[in-house]
Amino acid sequence: MSRCAVLKAESYNADELYNVIKKHFAFHEIEKDIPKDARVVIKPNLLTDKEAAFSINTNPAFVFAIIRCLKEIGINDITVADCPGGSVLLFTQMQDVYRKAEYDFMAEHVKLNLDFESTDVYGSESFANKKFNVINAIANADYIINVPKLKTHNITCITAGVKNLFGCIPGLQKPAFHAKHPGAADFSNMLVELAATVKPDFTIVDAVEIMEGNGPANGKRRHLGVTFSSKDVFALDAFIAEKIKIPADIVKTVAASRKKGFLPEKIEAVGDTDFEIDEPIILPGPINEKTAINKFAATFKILLMRIDEKLFKAYPQMNEKCTLCRKCVTTCPMKALSIENGRVVLNKKDCIGCLCCDEICPQGAVDIKKQFGIRK
Ligand code: SF4
Ligand code: SF4
Repeated sequence: MSRCAVLKAESYNADELYNVIKKHFAFHEIEKDIPKDARVVIKPNLLTDKEAAFSINTNPAFVFAIIRCLKEIGINDITVADCPGGSVLLFTQMQDVYRKAEYDFMAEHVKLNLDFESTDVYGSESFANKKFNVINAIANADYIINVPKLKTHNITCITAGVKNLFGCIPGLQKPAFHAKHPGAADFSNMLVELAATVKPDFTIVDAVEIMEGNGPANGKRRHLGVTFSSKDVFALDAFIAEKIKIPADIVKTVAASRKKGFLPEKIEAVGDTDFEIDEPIILPGPINEKTAINKFAATFKILLMRIDEKLFKAYPQMNEKCTLCRKCVTTCPMKALSIENGRVVLNKKDCIGCLCCDEICPQGAVDIKKQFGIRK
């Protein structure tokens, strides 16, 4: 049996969050787990260089509340580490991400990792991916606190504990994984193997403000007012899916965890277990507006998604917001994008529908289109 906690948090107010995180720590007796001299790494979701108001990255106030609670129990060797999407490869680019994501004030209290050097870590011999190359901060940590932002995701349906660990893989190795695992199920299986290899000790999810619709980068901010935690990252993702009323089988990482036998038979829920969402989460894809038929659309869409993933291939189409920054061109794992005659051109034959281009685009200039045809 795995214990999962749910606690309401109405805002990013520092004292409210501090009290909530403290309760999460108490539910799981975290103080007993971490030796005082441990190297503790906090792994947020720092997807891109956007301010907290965009609800793309884990909110800095949320991360700082965790730091406060760690300091209070005598932990001082704390590093915040993540590798943002695709084209952030340099020390100075990472400094920029911390600054724009409003994390830089934390440098007075903890180390903000700027080192993308990496080490191989080995998982189970039974895995399709027996080893992963992860950033040194993660490879050398004594205790890993995984701190995702809850968002919808155009491949895995939602991104929470398991998907957040993809950021342990440095820079341009990430698109290479998309190329190696082009289907949603295959990609999610890889993510589950990565999570089982990295083995986060504790996961706390920022769902105070989430992203719904076309996540993880171009959806809409929504107030959910809640936080989740567990020592079991696989159980936690299944628990969250249930709490936000998304069938577990369309959350690809949960389906992959179940298939591998990583989900416990029972989950012990603690905290504000009466938490319920008022309206369905808007899932990624074309039906993403809040309308009078929203509830019907959301239910209908879950059915459609089951058919859709078998029959239709997603591909990007760049819209008028494109500034020709080239980020999508350098990130695309299949080299399917180029800039010709002042616009981004897609070579559909090579596109695997991974939507890394959508995830990396800073302008929201990528529309996702569907075309009849089996995914590669
Ligand atoms: S689509 Fe987005 S990422 Fe690609 S070139 Fe245009 S603005 Fe840049
Ligand atoms: S064009 Fe976009 S969706 Fe297609 S392979 Fe490249 S990054 Fe993936």
